[in-house]
Amino acid sequence: MTYTTVSYENFTGDPFSSLSVDDDTKGALEVLKWAYEAYDSITYACSFGAEGIVLIDLISQVKKDAKIVFLDTGIHFQETYDLIEKVKRNYPSLDIEMKKPSLTLEEQAEEHGSALWKRNPDQCCFIRKIKPLEDALDGVGAWVSGLRREQSLSRSNTDFVNKDERFKSIKVCPLIYWTWEDVWSYIRLNKLDYNELHDEGYPSIGCIPCTFKAESGGRDGRWKGMEKTECGLHTRGQS
Ligand code: SF4
Repeated sequence: MTYTTVSYENFTGDPFSSLSVDDDTKGALEVLKWAYEAYDSITYACSFGAEGIVLIDLISQVKKDAKIVFLDTGIHFQETYDLIEKVKRNYPSLDIEMKKPSLTLEEQAEEHGSALWKRNPDQCCFIRKIKPLEDALDGVGAWVSGLRREQSLSRSNTDFVNKDERFKSIKVCPLIYWTWEDVWSYIRLNKLDYNELHDEGYPSIGCIPCTFKAESGGRDGRWKGMEKTECGLHTRGQS
């Protein structure tokens, strides 16, 4: 089966919409092989959560020197930074960039007041995550994300290949059919290193001030007590 390369401008739909997903990776490897063949420049924006560890392992089977970007807000758990160092050792050929915002935490506090995440988390995410990703994706043909359909209602219609209005790019999501159990089966089967906080009640891990233990095992520990449920990387036009 051959697939055509799609760009933001000529996107007419997911070329993998009728892909048979009964293989071991539920279509993920086939989609990744296509993506790394189709795009000269493609970046995986990885948060180093459980899905991220799976995707890094799958991507390394397709493109050993793949570009990975971690949005280093400067306010992540030490366990996350420790995991990134392990991944660098386990996959030495990968090109892992720690992408920092233009403002340090101190500069942000001076310009916008301290603990901006409490008063205006959307603005904080824009400064520390969205703008840095926008810069990282400048000139890039496509980017990879670990979104899964079962994660939330807003992600339930995600396709393998998506027109990304937010970043004017193509977003490739190889894990859309994976369940949380699939993710952990793969991690255990392949004895992958993962963030130790997962064993302490944190299924979804982001910045320290906005990550809490979760009751359900889903994303309900993120931005707990706030109206916010997404950082804005996967929604349209937020600023
Ligand atoms: Fe700021 Fe919280 Fe967003 Fe991190 S997750 S950038 S601390 S609002």
